[in-house]
Amino acid sequence: MIVFWFYKYYNQSLLKTPLKNLSRNMNPNLIFLLLIIPYVTSSLKDNAYPPPYGEELIPLRREVYGGGKIYDITHRVTSETPSGGRGFGEGVGKYLTLLESMKNGSDYNFSIIKLPAHSGTHVDAPGHMFENYFEEGFDIDSLDLEVLNGPALLVDVPRDKNITAEVMESLNIPKGVRRVLFRTLNTDRRLMSQKRFDTSYVGFMKEGAQWLKDNTDIKLVGTDYLSVAAYVDLIPAHLVFLESREIILVEGLKLEDVEAGLYDVHCLPLRLLGAEGSPIRCILIK
Ligand SMILES: [Zn+2]
Repeated sequence: MIVFWFYKYYNQSLLKTPLKNLSRNMNPNLIFLLLIIPYVTSSLKDNAYPPPYGEELIPLRREVYGGGKIYDITHRVTSETPSGGRGFGEGVGKYLTLLESMKNGSDYNFSIIKLPAHSGTHVDAPGHMFENYFEEGFDIDSLDLEVLNGPALLVDVPRDKNITAEVMESLNIPKGVRRVLFRTLNTDRRLMSQKRFDTSYVGFMKEGAQWLKDNTDIKLVGTDYLSVAAYVDLIPAHLVFLESREIILVEGLKLEDVEAGLYDVHCLPLRLLGAEGSPIRCILIK
């Protein structure tokens, strides 16, 4: 393949121009052979390397990088990724469509992505729950990256309970802490691994959200299921958080196999103008 491309370009003006003077005095075929020798020898040398550099093409898929320095707390998107909203009972389905395919003779592969904005690990913008904010453009593009990135606490919430005011108080989150990821029973139950939206998840009750807003400095609220708010308080708890437009909600985080404690969190949503939700990539750095 490399040889083919090289020959093609050699015969075009791209490579021919700098070689013009040389080729006047030498057999073009000899020049061509001399030029491809490094490529042939280097490709033979590659085979001596162990996977993933050798013949076995196996992509690495990791949850932890750098021997425990970086934790990926984002769920992988698959056709079974669960989503909020109606009509996604069996996961998000075929979210990638290969529009142009090399298998079918195209020079490249080229896909279209179609994904619910509130599926898998994602972030909510104020416009998700307030029509006036939606109309005024409080979208994903307006979210504060300074809130989405910085020191963060990963805390364990008492199991079998929604996050009430009492639970919030019991967590003793110090003043000054601005980013908290709440690990709940949802993680133990691996709810994000099920394609169906499960309404029995735990989350914030309205009074728990209000307590957080009134008594802490938390501006980034991360939870481990598709909604930060418990199903029974779905809308009221969201409204408490989103009303101020200062608190950012990251939902559906993958918090298993990470120790509770202090990290640097880095969350980056797609810059989707007009969108009230977006898939987000979040990592923790030790
Ligand atoms: Zn959402």
